[in-house]
Amino acid sequence: MLEASRRWRREGLSIGLVPTMGALHAGHLRLVEGACRENDRVVVSIFVNPIQFGPGEDFDHYPRDPQRDAELLAKAGVDGIYEPTVAAMYPPGSSTLIHVAGVSQPLEGQARPGHFDGVATVVAKLFTAVEPDRAYFGQKDAQQVAVVKRMARDLDFPVEIRVSPTVRELDGLALSSRNAYLTPDERKAAASLSSALRLAAEAYAHGEGKPDRLRQILKERLEAEPLAQVEYAEVVNPETFIAPGSLAVLAVRFGRTRLIDNHDLAKVFPG
Ligand code: AMP
Repeated sequence: MLEASRRWRREGLSIGLVPTMGALHAGHLRLVEGACRENDRVVVSIFVNPIQFGPGEDFDHYPRDPQRDAELLAKAGVDGIYEPTVAAMYPPGSSTLIHVAGVSQPLEGQARPGHFDGVATVVAKLFTAVEPDRAYFGQKDAQQVAVVKRMARDLDFPVEIRVSPTVRELDGLALSSRNAYLTPDERKAAASLSSALRLAAEAYAHGEGKPDRLRQILKERLEAEPLAQVEYAEVVNPETFIAPGSLAVLAVRFGRTRLIDNHDLAKVFPG
């Protein structure tokens, strides 16, 4: 795979990279579509990155279905799948981590210590391996987007970071490989995330600009759902991830499943 991408580069073809952890769904395929539109060649990486999972998180149970992923990507017209092993990515003795200060600290950074070091490190290694002109990320993981943009700028990667909107189910739930963990009751309750974001966006559109009030709207809607355990519900700046700002960000647990979602309140909530 990497030989092919080197050849494409020599031939002057543009390369789009879509980093994923597999278990692909329509959200991933949205990124792939964008990449296929904007580049001569598209590489999708599939790598469940152990160093971005904390102890007790779901690394061992993370859904994996390489056969189905390969079929979906072939149908989508992808030119290459880069699927390194853990041993190839982190050979014995590997001891360098990339730490993006600032934006990787609050919210997800606080809830998942070390998570963004793992993300920044693996994304930098993927950029070095594939040398893409453009790399595609989902707005669903908004703080990840901010961390990756900062890392790419700070380390002078000549890659354009492209961001695709969040793909949602009919009831508004953002697609996620982790939705598969939800029981039927939790699945119903999980619609409360998008419902809370929609309520806050409507309030914002009607002139509600007070961060405390917007936070309260988010929390009240989530707390009305008995199965939801709110980890955070904040309204932050989309570059720094600290208040004030207009990006509503949520992390909520349903049983053992942790879901995140976000929406820029200055925009109409879709659907
Ligand atoms: P993952 O496989 O979960 O690491 O996700 C790979 C990429 O797909 C990341 O850039 C995610 O932000 C993006 N992604 C995941 N879910 C969605 C979604 N529902 N809509 C759009 N992009 C998504």
